[in-house]
Amino acid sequence: MLANKTALVTGSTSGIGLGIAKALARQGANIVLNGFGDVEGPKAEILALGVQVAYHGADMSKPAEIEDMMKFAAERFGRVDILVNNAGIQHVARVEDFPVEKWDAIIAINLTSAFHASRLAIPAMRAANWGRIINVASVHGLVGSAEKSAYVAAKHGVVGLTKVTALENAASGVTCNAICPGWVLTPLVQKQVDAKAVALGVTNEEAKNVLLGEKEPSMQFTTPEELGELAVFFCSPAGNNVRGVAWNMDGGWVAQ
Ligand code: NAD
Repeated sequence: MLANKTALVTGSTSGIGLGIAKALARQGANIVLNGFGDVEGPKAEILALGVQVAYHGADMSKPAEIEDMMKFAAERFGRVDILVNNAGIQHVARVEDFPVEKWDAIIAINLTSAFHASRLAIPAMRAANWGRIINVASVHGLVGSAEKSAYVAAKHGVVGLTKVTALENAASGVTCNAICPGWVLTPLVQKQVDAKAVALGVTNEEAKNVLLGEKEPSMQFTTPEELGELAVFFCSPAGNNVRGVAWNMDGGWVAQ
């Protein structure tokens, strides 16, 4: 379905981004990976799906590096057809204790980077009259949780940016939508499980159940594969007129 299309997924060396990149690659899209840590493993996983893959290591908190990445992708594949703004970090502390540099980093990586990548991707998408921008927000783009001020502020911002981007392009073939996962057991959440296990003096398994029990009636983690299939839907012909939604996949978290 996505043969001859190129998808750039930020923060795709791990977790949800890698899951989305693989789901799009299974549909035939060439992939531009981005993110830190092991690159060769994720690259090999994408190559095994029979598409082309490239990697750019832009730090998503740095606008000049984002510009360089978008140029690199256009030179390598001609155009970015699908942009998935996924890179993100977390830090947990009360407002009065929140380290200022962590606030700045979360806003830069989780929110501002989506603005930069989108503004740089939109002109070529408009020229082709086809494009998909998928912002990985969170249930925290829809509701709050204590001790996550920067993250919740950034993710609510991402949902707002999604709506405006969708509206500005509504009369074209360029759509913009957000995905709002609940708990997904990636390294980002494993850190929170570990912290809970230490705080409560319980095992890792028990800490997972406490975490889920607080928020998710399904008592199940959402998986990167499930989120990848939602991204595929947004890219499918059936997604042509889905514009500006913030779709939660959260085991019932936000339904409460
Ligand atoms: P993860 O830690 O597994 O992956 C994060 C990715 O972002 C990695 O590839 C990492 O290298 C990259 N990254 C981090 N800082 C970067 C930077 N400055 N520049 C470029 N890349 C950078 O986390 P994840 O859980 O897969 O999170 C992915 C997205 O999903 C984030 O936006 C996160 O907020 C969101 N999300 C996660 C959950 C969850 O439960 N895990 C729930 C809702 C939303």
